[in-house]
Amino acid sequence: MLWTKHHFDALDSTQDEARAYPPYSVVVAERQTRGRGRMGRTWESPAGNLYLTAVVPDFGDRTPQLAFVAAVALAEALADFPVRLKWPNDVLLDGRKIAGILLERAEGKVLVGVGVNVVSAPDLAIYATGHLQGRIFCDILLDRFLKELREAMGAFQEKGFEPIRRKWLAGAFHLGQDIIVKMPQGTAAGVFAGIDADGALMLKQADTIKRITVGDVALMKDMK
Ligand code: ATP
Repeated sequence: MLWTKHHFDALDSTQDEARAYPPYSVVVAERQTRGRGRMGRTWESPAGNLYLTAVVPDFGDRTPQLAFVAAVALAEALADFPVRLKWPNDVLLDGRKIAGILLERAEGKVLVGVGVNVVSAPDLAIYATGHLQGRIFCDILLDRFLKELREAMGAFQEKGFEPIRRKWLAGAFHLGQDIIVKMPQGTAAGVFAGIDADGALMLKQADTIKRITVGDVALMKDMK
């Protein structure tokens, strides 16, 4: 096994703990007291779900694309469920957020944080009842994810972003649909035309394609 796992009952955040570990370490917590999402948002982390941080090597200027590598690996690990991927970092089931991915850079390494709502969630959980089933599932899912992450990172290293991009697009939510993207500098509307060779969101507006690197996506029809 490539990975060395470290289990904890409770942590503030698996991301914070993982900073102290070398690449190919995995930090897993039963619950987090200060789990976080992007931009300092809270990730609700009660006991029973899967919370992990996989420490991986830094890929230089290709590092942001690791978010898609991780999303593709997580989707493969959850292949028993009809999950879809939402740009940039969510995994959806029935259109609701079942899992989130958070990428953070530490010195010379990258912290790939993953939260999967196995038994409870603000929105949607895989096994909303049945904690025993959830417990077993968390262990299986962790190992499946680590295997898929290793494979996806190998493909990324050998063949570059294109095979990952194609897999991500094959599972993408909102493709070809009217969306609204909230960015730090304002809001833009258009058709979700995919992601480019860097992983930026491509928003089609009349005859132009706008490239977006940071933002929150919502379906236009949900905004009305
Ligand atoms: P969005 O879904 O709006 O695109 P995001 O991708 O920015 O959000 P993250 O930063 O990954 O989301 O996660 C934080 C947000 O997710 C929180 O602001 C909250 O709305 C929601 N959230 C918090 N905890 C959970 C959870 N356990 N499961 C699903 N969603 C959660």
